[in-house]
Amino acid sequence: MRKLTGKELAQAIRAQTAAEVAAGPQPRLAVVVATDDEASLWYVRSIAKAAAGVGIAADIVDLGPAASPGQIRESLVRLSGDGGVHGLMLQTPLPPGASAQELAGAIDPRKDVDGANPLSLGRLAAGLPAFAPATAAAVMALLDHYGVELKGRRAVVVGRSTVVGKPLAHLLLDRHATVTVCHSRTHDLASVTAAADVLVAAVGRAGLIGADHVAPGAVVIDVGTNPTDDGGLAGDVDFEPVSARAGALTPVPGGVGPVTTALLLRHTARAANLP
Ligand code: NAP
Repeated sequence: MRKLTGKELAQAIRAQTAAEVAAGPQPRLAVVVATDDEASLWYVRSIAKAAAGVGIAADIVDLGPAASPGQIRESLVRLSGDGGVHGLMLQTPLPPGASAQELAGAIDPRKDVDGANPLSLGRLAAGLPAFAPATAAAVMALLDHYGVELKGRRAVVVGRSTVVGKPLAHLLLDRHATVTVCHSRTHDLASVTAAADVLVAAVGRAGLIGADHVAPGAVVIDVGTNPTDDGGLAGDVDFEPVSARAGALTPVPGGVGPVTTALLLRHTARAANLP
C-alpha cells in the first residue's frame, strides 16, 4: 500500500507560491471569523501563520460569536470592495441563524479563494474559471501529484457538501472520471464504494469506511477530520484494515489537510494577480 502523504506536496506548493508572491505586490488575505470554537480559531491562526511564511499578509477579522448575519454580511461586502484585500474567506461555524452559503454570496467571486460563493460552484459546474474550494482542489492536487489516472475510471465521492463533495464531483468529471456521489441516504454504501477505482471519503464520521467498502488496489483519499478522545485527529477511513486492501491511501493527519492550506495561499496569490 502506497501512503499518499501531503506534506511534501504542500511544501512544494508553498515554495512556488512564495516565489510568485516575491515577484509582485504583496497579496492580502482576510478571514472573517464569528465563532469562539477553539478548533476553528486554531485553524484560522494556522492559516495566518502559513500565509506569513510565504509573504502573504493575513488579517483575521474577528466579529465575535454574537455577530448577527447582517454584521457578517456587512463585513464581507466591505472587504469585497476593499482594493487592498485580494483573498476573502468566511470561516465556519457561524452563530445560530447565520447561513454560510447565504452569506458567502457577498464574497466577490474574484476574491473567493475558498470557493464559497455559490457563483464559484456554479462556474465550476459550468466548466468556467473559478476558485474551487481549497479542500476539493487539494484532493485533485494529491491525485495528480501521485500520478493517479482518472480518465475513464470509476470515482466514488462519499459526501455531497457544497465545500467538498459537490465541487469535487465536478472536478473529477472534468477529468473524465465516471463519478458517483454518495450521501447519508445511499443504500448499501459498501456495494457502491467497493466498485470505485478512486474512492474519496468526505463525511466526518471516524472509521465509516472499512475494508469491505474498498476494492483491492483502489486509491483512497480520506478528507475526514474527526477529533479523537486523546486530542488527535482521525479520518473517515479505518486506516489499518483499509491499508491492507487499498493500493494507496492518504493518512489523517498529514494527507489532504496540509495541501488544503497550501492551496488557499496559492489561490490568494493568484487572486492578487488577476488582471
Ligand atoms: P458535511 O457538510 O457535514 O457533509 C457531510 C456529508 O456526508 C453529507 O453529504 C452527508 O450526507 C454525508 N454523510 C453523513 N453520514 C453519512 C453516512 N453514514 N454515509 C454516507 N454519507 C454520509 O461535512 P463537510 O464539510 O463536507 O466535511 C466532511 C469532512 O471533511 C469532515 O470531517 C470535515 O472536518 C472534513 N474536512 C476536512 C478538510 C481538510 O482540509 N482536510 C476541509 C474541509 C472539511 P447528507 O448530505 O445526506 O446529509
